[in-house]
Amino acid sequence: MGASKRLEAGITRNDREMADGRTIRYYDTQGQARNIADQRPVEEQPGIGELRLDPLVNEWVVMAAHRQGRIFLPPKELCPLCATHADLLTEIPESDYEVVVFDNRSPSLRPPLGDWALPDLVGPDTDAGTSAGKCEVICFTADHGQSFKDLTPARVRVLIEAWQDRVRELSKESFIEHIAPFENRGEEIGVTLAHPHGQIYAYSYLPPRVEKMLKAASDFNSKTGKNLFDEVVAREIRDEERIVARNSEWIAFVPYAARYPFEIHVAPLKPVADLAELSVEQSDAFPEVALEVMKRLDGVFGIEMAYIAAWHQAPVRVGRDLLRLHWQITSVRRAPGKLKYLAGSESAMGAFIMDMKPEQSAGQLRDVKI
Ligand SMILES: [Zn+2]
Repeated sequence: MGASKRLEAGITRNDREMADGRTIRYYDTQGQARNIADQRPVEEQPGIGELRLDPLVNEWVVMAAHRQGRIFLPPKELCPLCATHADLLTEIPESDYEVVVFDNRSPSLRPPLGDWALPDLVGPDTDAGTSAGKCEVICFTADHGQSFKDLTPARVRVLIEAWQDRVRELSKESFIEHIAPFENRGEEIGVTLAHPHGQIYAYSYLPPRVEKMLKAASDFNSKTGKNLFDEVVAREIRDEERIVARNSEWIAFVPYAARYPFEIHVAPLKPVADLAELSVEQSDAFPEVALEVMKRLDGVFGIEMAYIAAWHQAPVRVGRDLLRLHWQITSVRRAPGKLKYLAGSESAMGAFIMDMKPEQSAGQLRDVKI
């Protein structure tokens, strides 16, 4: 038997150990008992990967060669994220579930053994490090054919509670510096499992984009004494024309300088550093805006949009008063049958070029009848 814990909104969490020693956490609304044991044979766990420094930009690259054998787009009958059924023992031993979070079977980042530190940066002489961190999988529903937008508001409430719970717990690990829950959807962006799910990456270093955002927020704060993200949201509210949804606690907008044909940022009106800091009122109000945004996105062309939906939050230990929680949803879909490819300018130079004005995509998103 594992631990059981009561969370907000009548949600409980039950932990069970999987056959190979990983943990699965069931997030439920009906106080279900979750006692079914993992019947699968024990498999050896992959070792920890390597961190190498790209000295030209001082960015860490994770070398995770042991992930080559990952299962790629299996048919529904072989989906490892469905509940266990007569013909297949899956990652979830129970025959049904609401939301589950379990340790990734092929993690890019793993908890280190013993003391751990990042190597000092000395250009090409920088030592290789070990890729410390944690990778978890979060399944949104047992229903293989659904998408985020098809979830009930009650289910999205469970989801945000589970995200908060994971951030609270992972933040306590001494080797974790930054936590990023995200969802990839669509074969176009390399999704390997169609089942509605997301991932939680807990890094032992600040990812390059976070480092860059922190520098921008810090410089702005030194010059003005203000919080950069709060000023960004204030400008979006003032301009109004790029807002696509809002309620009492949240606002969703296409940012002024969007980089993707469809890009939506969702932020709480009362700013917080991370998911763990959200109030119960903010969490209760999230499902309405989240579902509206996802329905608008799929409604633009009447097709399922490929997207990345990533939570940006303040790092665990630094910049807590500089960076703010928000959800960035980006889609490379320009039109039915047309994708924006990140080519020469974007990939080689990191310089984005948009052929569509953010005000135009905001208008298209607002025009969707939901
Ligand atoms: Zn499935």
